[in-house]
Amino acid sequence: MSLKGRTALVTGSTSGIGLGIARALADQGARLVFNGLASAEQEAEVRQDLELRSGQPALFWRADLSKGAQVLPLLKELGPVDILVNNAGIQHTAPVEEFPPERWETVLAINLSAAFYAIHGLLPGMNERGWGRIINLASAHGLVASIHKAAYVAAKHGLVGLTKVVALEQAGKGVTCNAVCPGWVLTPLVQQQIDARAAREGISVAQAQSDLLLEKQPSGQFTSVEQLGQWAVFLCSSACDNVTGTSLPVDGGWTAR
Ligand code: NAD
Repeated sequence: MSLKGRTALVTGSTSGIGLGIARALADQGARLVFNGLASAEQEAEVRQDLELRSGQPALFWRADLSKGAQVLPLLKELGPVDILVNNAGIQHTAPVEEFPPERWETVLAINLSAAFYAIHGLLPGMNERGWGRIINLASAHGLVASIHKAAYVAAKHGLVGLTKVVALEQAGKGVTCNAVCPGWVLTPLVQQQIDARAAREGISVAQAQSDLLLEKQPSGQFTSVEQLGQWAVFLCSSACDNVTGTSLPVDGGWTAR
């Protein structure tokens, strides 16, 4: 399929899953707007990669998505956006009674509220053009819970709910809204959790990785960022014109248990 002529904004696309999705959309010819907390060097590296793939200039959206409604005026500077991937996210783990309130606020701001603001700001343009794709990176934790992840699980369940409301409001208007719910994907966000587990339990990083996978993900395998990129491309294809409001698990059987 070709996404030539479409512009895609992928939040949090300087690393991990967002970068995998941005690359896959660029490979199909979409013009990319990328975003994240990146050094100038990282920004230049990602820009060059995306431009080579898509054959078009890529734009870096320098927005800190923890800032809530402050991003709304910045969205207006981006021009038309046809594909919005709300991917930026962070994690913090602690028992709920010890959960630092400021971390709760930040996780909710980046993992949930930022998606609302981006949809709120970009939907009118999609409606004017009669076509749009909104893909929200939720998680298996948007469908089931784990201990010590109060803010993350609340935000991801919220994102699944937001996905359904937007899908219902947009039904029949050419704009679809779906959530993708990965289990474990080996990115910096998960590597931090593996390293913390190894240190906490006094085991090797390899053992911690294997334990983390097998505890939740029956396949015993990570999903790759390239596979999630292919999901995003599929959701942008005409095969998915009538797929909306879904929360698609890509989790090696995690939520089948
Ligand atoms: P990552 O840490 O590799 O990447 C996160 C991206 O978000 C980076 O580009 C970072 O710069 C950006 N970001 C962080 N804070 C930001 C802010 N304030 N403003 C703008 N950008 C910001 O993480 P990842 O594992 O690729 O996760 C991407 C998404 O996928 C997240 O929403 C995460 O919850 C979700 N997810 C990840 C996994 C997994 O196993 N890795 C599983 C399920 C869901």
